[in-house]
Amino acid sequence: MTGPTLDDHGKEFDRMWADLAPVGREPGGGYRRFAWTRADHTLREWFVAEAGRRGLSTVVDRAGNQWAWWGDPDTDGPGVVTGSHLDSVPSGGAYDGPLGVVSAFLAVDALRARGVRPSRPIGVACFADEEGARFGVACAGSRIITGALPADRARGLTDDDGTSLSDAVRQSGYDAELIGPDPKTVRRVGTFLELHIEQGRGLADLDWPVAVGNMIWPHGRWRVELAGRADHAGTTALADRDDPMLRLAALIEGARAGAARHDALATVGKVKIEPNGVNAIPSHVTAWVDCRAAETERVERVLAGLAEFTSTNESWTPVTVFDEALVAQLSRTLDAPVLSTGAGHDAGILSAAGIPAAMLFVRNPTGVSHSPDEHAERADCLAGVEALTRCLAELVA
Ligand SMILES: [Zn+2]
Repeated sequence: MTGPTLDDHGKEFDRMWADLAPVGREPGGGYRRFAWTRADHTLREWFVAEAGRRGLSTVVDRAGNQWAWWGDPDTDGPGVVTGSHLDSVPSGGAYDGPLGVVSAFLAVDALRARGVRPSRPIGVACFADEEGARFGVACAGSRIITGALPADRARGLTDDDGTSLSDAVRQSGYDAELIGPDPKTVRRVGTFLELHIEQGRGLADLDWPVAVGNMIWPHGRWRVELAGRADHAGTTALADRDDPMLRLAALIEGARAGAARHDALATVGKVKIEPNGVNAIPSHVTAWVDCRAAETERVERVLAGLAEFTSTNESWTPVTVFDEALVAQLSRTLDAPVLSTGAGHDAGILSAAGIPAAMLFVRNPTGVSHSPDEHAERADCLAGVEALTRCLAELVA
């Protein structure tokens, strides 16, 4: 068989990776690619250009997600869609999101190079605001089009500067009035397959480059209010203090101990301290607990152990079990291990909306993610492209 070799795809991978490298790069080496910002705009233009290079035109749905179609999903669909996102968390890594979008375009190249004539349209998708780093709701783009995030609530979300999602969308040149469920777009997706860097060491431990994802752990966020009394750090006797920071310490210790006891994960990664002065006993602390586990009951047990604190649930995503037949088919095709993950993804949102979905994970040698240190070896990235190509070929055969 002739045609482009793996090395040709490697060169194209290098080119696309080099084009993305400077976008939203922070001085410390991480990435800040928040939704509906200048960096995000540049990434959107990059997507349109890469689609254009392949003769695919890009359509934007009612939440700002981008879709490039090979074939017509309205007449010959629904199609098989692959892709991920290009936005990042603050000081994020280079791979979380972009690896899935780059691999999607490279898989299209590889299918064409092999002369594959798809029996169904193939779509490349880039979801808007997956990380929720700016407006606080993860997977906002996929949640909006599937109706999981009500349009009114989405429009009213604000960032730390008080800018609403509506205004940010408008400032980016899109029609914020359109924000809302988009059944026409959702109907085009018959199957969704998201390739993503693994956010853990499962593959490193197995010494294997690519896995099939079968499940996303149930996960949620709780806001905890810890009241106290403001006072002077230099004149208030210890016995006279009502210090909410001690309650915060107990909360953090309690969350950690509960997670360890119940085989779960719990994190206090964000706190708001008032007034946040060095020489002032705080009047109030707000803390956020993120809790996840393989089973809902484990999360519930961790939360039960924190019952002494007043908490409000801000988000809850039940367990996502990807399409069992699809997972079995893909793991057979690739002879690859099957792994679950504690991280949320657009594939999970689409799955919850009834679309058969699954994921592919690419080995992450250290397991580190959401960090400038996030990394995947080039050879593993190319193995991911090859795996995605084989899966797509089978799904459109
Ligand atoms: Zn991601």
